[in-house]
Parts: sequence; structure tokens; C-alpha cells
Amino acid sequence: MLWPKLARNLLGRPVTAAAPAVSDEAVAALVARLEGAARARLGRSLAIRAVDCGSCNGCELELNALQNPVHDLERFGLRFVASPRHADVLMLTGPLTRNMREALEHAYAATPDPKWVVAVGDCAVDGGVFKGSYAVEGGAGAAVPVDLIIPGCPPAPEQLLAGLLSLLEAETETPRASS
Ligand code: SF4
Repeated sequence: MLWPKLARNLLGRPVTAAAPAVSDEAVAALVARLEGAARARLGRSLAIRAVDCGSCNGCELELNALQNPVHDLERFGLRFVASPRHADVLMLTGPLTRNMREALEHAYAATPDPKWVVAVGDCAVDGGVFKGSYAVEGGAGAAVPVDLIIPGCPPAPEQLLAGLLSLLEAETETPRASS
């Protein structure tokens, strides 16, 4: 019967999942360590350029969450920039689609040395759920060298922060200088 279902949907509350609990102190401590590590490695705060190589936008929502009032990355000086020419880190999301390969290679070449590349989410690691598609070449590593992978579908903002922190605090690794 259509009418009971229609009435239930019209009168019922929207079905939404509750937002996950976020510890302000834990996030602030994580971001402060990240900012300190960026200053130690680079002498200034970190600039991040996000490149969507063909994602479903789930990973972008988590990257966006880093800038929302809960996480507010910019209060610590870390910021997303509009051009790879201003970036220290490229954060790549989604599988590497054929249409995005050239754009990604240009973005990588335009990023000044030293630089890091982070594959964000299962799709950027190896193609994820899109693996095998005619339009997909694999993970981001099929086009550019990747320094860090952050798995998950999608990874949570805290995982992204922890990943960036491990990248900067790695003592044996140096930022990539292409030539
Ligand atoms: S890892 Fe998951 S959320 Fe991220 S682009 Fe792939 S399918 Fe979407």
C-alpha cells in the first residue's frame, strides 16, 4: 500500500546517522604537534593542495572536515591552497582515472621541491572499489611517486592528521626533491 508508506515518510523524522564524537583536546593536540613538526621541517606552516583524481567525493568530505569549525586546521596555520605552486604536500583522492593522469602529472611537476605526496583513501592506494574499471589506471602511484598512504573508505579526519604528522615526524625520510 502506497499511502501508509507515504504518510510514514512524510511524518517521520529524517534517517541520519549521529555524528561521531570528536575530542577537542585530542584534535588540538594532534594539530599542534603537526604545526610544530611543519615548523621544524620547513621553517613555517604546512600548505596542502588536494587533487581529486576521480573520487566519489567521500574522501573530499573528510578533507573538508579538516577545515570545518570542529577541526579548524587553519587556526594552527595549516592551510589548503588553491595551486600546487604554493603547496608542500599533495593530498590525492580517488582512483587515478585516465582523464586525470595528465592533470596530476602537471600538478606534481608544478609543486616546488621539497614536496610530499599522500594517497588518501583506498581508491588512491590501488583503485579501491573502482579497480578494474576501463576508466581507471589504478592508484595515484601509477602516475606519481607516493610518500605516504592513508587507507580507509574514507579515512576519518583524525587519521588524516595522524598521517600528515607521521610524514613530517619521520626522521629518516626527507621531502622529495624531483631534480
Ligand atoms: S576511498 Fe571510499 S570514500 Fe574515498 S573515493 Fe574511494 S570509494 Fe570514495
